[in-house]
Amino acid sequence: MSSTTPSNTPAASARHQVVVIGSGFGGLFGTKALKRADADVTMVAKTTHHLFQPLLYQVATGILSEGEIAPPTREILRSQKNARVLLGEVTDVDLAARTVTSHVLGRTTVNHYDSLIVAAGAGQSYFGNDHFSEFAPGMKSIDDALELRGRIFGAFELAELGAARGENVDHLLTFVVVGAGPTGVEMAGQIAELAHRTLKRDFHAIETRSARVVLIDAAPQVLPPFGRKLGLWTKDRLEKLGVEVMLGAMVTDVDERGLKVKFKNGREERVEAVTKVWAAGVQASPLSTTLSEQTGAPLDRAGRIGVNPDLTLPGYPEVFVVGDMISLDHLPGVAQVAIQGAKYAAKEIDGRLKGKPAQKPFHYFDKGSMATISRFNAVAAVGKIRLTGFIAWLMWLAVHLVYITGFKNRLTAVMHWFVSFLGRGRSERTATEQQIFGRIALARLRRGATDLVSAPGQLDQDAERDRRADLEAQAAEEVRLTDQSQRGIRVGSGSS
Ligand SMILES: Cc1cc2nc3c(=O)[nH]c(=O)nc-3n(C[C@H](O)[C@H](O)[C@H](O)COP(=O)(O)OP(=O)(O)OC[C@H]3O[C@@H](n4cnc5c(N)ncnc54)[C@H](O)[C@@H]3O)c2cc1C
Repeated sequence: MSSTTPSNTPAASARHQVVVIGSGFGGLFGTKALKRADADVTMVAKTTHHLFQPLLYQVATGILSEGEIAPPTREILRSQKNARVLLGEVTDVDLAARTVTSHVLGRTTVNHYDSLIVAAGAGQSYFGNDHFSEFAPGMKSIDDALELRGRIFGAFELAELGAARGENVDHLLTFVVVGAGPTGVEMAGQIAELAHRTLKRDFHAIETRSARVVLIDAAPQVLPPFGRKLGLWTKDRLEKLGVEVMLGAMVTDVDERGLKVKFKNGREERVEAVTKVWAAGVQASPLSTTLSEQTGAPLDRAGRIGVNPDLTLPGYPEVFVVGDMISLDHLPGVAQVAIQGAKYAAKEIDGRLKGKPAQKPFHYFDKGSMATISRFNAVAAVGKIRLTGFIAWLMWLAVHLVYITGFKNRLTAVMHWFVSFLGRGRSERTATEQQIFGRIALARLRRGATDLVSAPGQLDQDAERDRRADLEAQAAEEVRLTDQSQRGIRVGSGSS
């Protein structure tokens, strides 16, 4: 059973209603940019936090806590009077009726909009092999990062147990990262540092420094968007850290115990590894399909929707789509595309309300890209400038500090970086069984977490049923006592 709440209706609200889908880079920056607009802004997102995805790998490897990279959206927006935050997964956008329908634990909400910004981002793509996800989690959410943290630290623990019993634990001490883009490089580098530096004194039966870290990609180089020179430099640094880099290698199968790769020359190899991380491929939010079906806008292979040069949907100038969901001029799936796109959309909405002429088409200003390899080592490409090593790492540090949301998060992140980069510690090594198995357990339920809670209204019905049962029991007791003529006697005897 579910309940439907019309959250705002055209009649109920005289002000212009903007709905923003998503609380990521596009959603948050779009909402904030509407602060002074003469409009009510409703942000609907399926999580209660704003996630700084670029640092997920540090949560997965015990450097940062999840709160430091995922502050509550409600807190960030608390002083923005015209904004409200709603929890819910959007399942439908009706462009003709101008409504957005979202659900959370069986509760349905329908929001009316006059303007809409869709910033639902992208998920992991397993290139049609979704069953790989059971054994090789992706790196897109806090849940993913905590699950990976549990799996990585857990593998060392199981290896210690096995080695103490004299068993072969090579498969437990082999860590495979699939995808040699920035996330894969950062993840592989951090696991290598964990094994070679952080954990080396913590175990007795195993030698953590003998752990094998393998980075696999079907492409012929690491970090393809950074160009050949930085790619070669990065590969060399990774190898010096002890990471085995397998290029031109396509993953063809993944199971609990390992994976199979096929090389360009047809050779096949199996890698025995319990811990696998999937950092290859993205698939735009399924909402892009919903929007495409209603507008005829094309979808590309990653499910990204083709938008007009002003980021609106064909035939629907009141609907903007921004960030990882769009396919426009080969724009990359990076935070700045989402931030700048969302600010552009917000400015256009505000401008229209003020009667201003339309802006020029959206133009993305590329501020550059960077990736860390290990502590004190990074690569950066800014315009024509290419930086490597410590300078690039300092730049990475500064940029990430600026973009982490909230003063207290910046402060604690710096403290944790001191612990990990100057020392050898990791402050956030806590891992629980729920983190490791929760995702798989929920996936086995038909409707996920919804199956674990009472349907909305059910609690009221249960309470009503209990109250009725109590009253009936009382009435029956009254009848019994009256039939046995005991009531008067008891009362009487008590008073005499
Ligand atoms: C591990 C990792 C590392 C990265 N590193 C970098 C980097 O170093 N530099 C860089 O520039 N970029 C990096 N990126 C890419 C960058 O994070 C994205 O390009 C950016 O987040 C895109 O912003 P967005 O608003 O489009 O989507 P997101 O930030 O992904 O936000 C999507 C939002 O929509 C919500 N949502 C999704 N579906 C629904 C739904 N149906 N209903 C309601 N809400 C929904 C999500 O909960 C989320 O709040 C990285 C990405 C990852 C995954």
